[in-house]
Amino acid sequence: MTTTVKSKSKSCRTNEQKGKKMTSQDYIQRENTYGAHNYHPLPVVLERGEGVFLWDVEGKRYYDFLSAYSAVNQGHCHPKIVDAMIDQAKKLTLTSRAFYNNLLGEFEEYITKMFGYDKVLPMNTGAEGVETAVKLCRKWGYTVKGVKENEGKIIVCRNNFHGRTLLAVSISTDPESYGQYGPYVPGFIRVPYNDIETFENVIKSDPNIIGFLVEPIQGEAGVVVPDDQYLIEAYKLCKKHNVLFIADEVQTGIARTGKMLACDHLKIRPDIVILGKALSGGMYPISAVLADNEIMLTIKPGQHGSTFGGNPLAARIAIAALEVVKEEKLAENAEKMGKLFRDELAKIKSPLIETIRGKGLLNAVVIKPTNGKEAWDVCLAMKENGLLAKPTHQHIIRFAPPLIINKDQILEAVKIIEKSIKQVEKLK
Ligand code: PMP
Repeated sequence: MTTTVKSKSKSCRTNEQKGKKMTSQDYIQRENTYGAHNYHPLPVVLERGEGVFLWDVEGKRYYDFLSAYSAVNQGHCHPKIVDAMIDQAKKLTLTSRAFYNNLLGEFEEYITKMFGYDKVLPMNTGAEGVETAVKLCRKWGYTVKGVKENEGKIIVCRNNFHGRTLLAVSISTDPESYGQYGPYVPGFIRVPYNDIETFENVIKSDPNIIGFLVEPIQGEAGVVVPDDQYLIEAYKLCKKHNVLFIADEVQTGIARTGKMLACDHLKIRPDIVILGKALSGGMYPISAVLADNEIMLTIKPGQHGSTFGGNPLAARIAIAALEVVKEEKLAENAEKMGKLFRDELAKIKSPLIETIRGKGLLNAVVIKPTNGKEAWDVCLAMKENGLLAKPTHQHIIRFAPPLIINKDQILEAVKIIEKSIKQVEKLK
């Protein structure tokens, strides 16, 4: 029997195929037609990046104040990282972990010495890093702490963001993230962020608690910086109750907040650190989980892994990405430029600005809706004026440029932000 497959497609000929130059609108329409609608991008179509700048398909230049959600700390297409990537791509890219490769060990040695941990477990995305940390914590809970199997509980914070996997949305308190994806992964206790009293009451109430998973600054929630004492006290309580302190530094790590880790500001050494995003230099996904032997060696061969995790291409890129952060003193620059940025923003007088907050170059402005205008309208105006940033929730704009940004660029960017806010103020 033969079946005829009818083509559902109408005309697939794009402007490009018809010999016309594609416009931004054409690209947007094509994505809308063929891609899932799981994002709501700002209407700008980018085709080139260099340093702190991006260019759209019409050749217009923008300051990048998102840095791909802090994955491009080293700046777009950093020549050293590009060279490492191209050179390695010509030699060897993927072997799987069925065999050894000549670069994984070099990366492992480099990153563990840099951050001061016994061992690292490489994965690809931030969410996989979180999954790995939770699995490690559970293994440790059952094999070292001695909690009965399947009884371990991990404390997480309200308004967290740990990614989009089922585990990550299971622990989310945002209905946008978790809605209609149940049933969810059990074994978590949600506590309010920055509330040490509740934390203490919970941690001492249940001997089956094995971990505390926390973002040192809540990025996606709108750059919520907790009181220093909160994390310091929470850390002490974790030590007291033999609970692992797990820092999700996927967004805050790799110099973003002015130190290599946000926890470094508080002199806290987490039991498990999760890194991702800028470990890639913005090139190729790589995440990593750092821990000491007592924790890391609880996972045995065959009990966790990833086809791509620890591949030589990612290893080579990650070493280059970390070298750039060190060589170019990006943590110091983030600290200095972040302060300048917040000081300059504070000079803007506008009824639209409710709060300015942040640490290093992870910052946010909370927008007070005025005349029905919100963060999205400010982002649209900034786009027209040559600066890209994205609202997180309806009323918060995150400002997180690449960490290589200099003083003149910060000053020019603040002028663009001010001009845009003033334009939105006047909109009816
Ligand atoms: N953890 C945190 C704190 C994050 O900010 C993110 C991404 N925004 C993730 C985990 C997930 O990373 P990925 O998108 O690479 O899975």
